[in-house]
Amino acid sequence: MITRNLTEIKATLPEHVTLVAVSKTKPIVDIQEAYDAGQRVFGENKIQEMVAKYDALPKDINWHMIGHLQRNKVKYMAHFVDLIHGVDSFKTLKEINKQAKKHNRVINCLLQARIAQEETKFGLTFNDINQIITSEELSELENISIVGLMGMATFTDDKHQLQEEFSSLKNFFDTLKTQNSKLKILSMGMSGDYPLAIENGSTMVRVGSSIFGHRNYIA
Ligand SMILES: *Cc1c(COP(=O)(O)O)cnc(C)c1O
Repeated sequence: MITRNLTEIKATLPEHVTLVAVSKTKPIVDIQEAYDAGQRVFGENKIQEMVAKYDALPKDINWHMIGHLQRNKVKYMAHFVDLIHGVDSFKTLKEINKQAKKHNRVINCLLQARIAQEETKFGLTFNDINQIITSEELSELENISIVGLMGMATFTDDKHQLQEEFSSLKNFFDTLKTQNSKLKILSMGMSGDYPLAIENGSTMVRVGSSIFGHRNYIA
């Protein structure tokens, strides 16, 4: 099932779009199956769970942290994490920088923009993002690199609303890019809305249940 789902999804993705297979809550055997089918980029939303999976699985996997970050746990993943999607404060960037430095690495990060209307979704306003990107202090953080933005749309079937949220982030991203050439990645789109996200300029989609099936508990 996993192999077939992956093959079907990959066949629909434009070449410039990276597929992050979101394996949170799923067992090692499921990830191994996706790996054997050629998938190399996996996303998790809990640091400890990702560390355990990193330890158990082939080392050429690129692990993405897509969840809300607890600063005191960044140290556990600093030696291997490939991309952190959910950065939503300068304090967190500083902590990532500090931990990356210990391992002599530069960790790639995405700033999470708040585009959903739901109150519960994390993220920075476009104004916050502008301030971080242009701040003097950022240039002192030599062990992180901000390579793009991430956004989560409202959980809704309303295509018009999704489209508005995705395109507002895409427009903002394009404006920022003209000032900062390091910005390359726009992470938006999940199982329910990734085709629409791609139509609206996404370069990276985070797909879980359409690959691995429904999760047993809310994660
Ligand atoms: C769980 C999760 C996903 C994947 O969700 P699906 O609907 O299962 O595809 C994508 N992004 C984030 C941030 C998530 O937490």
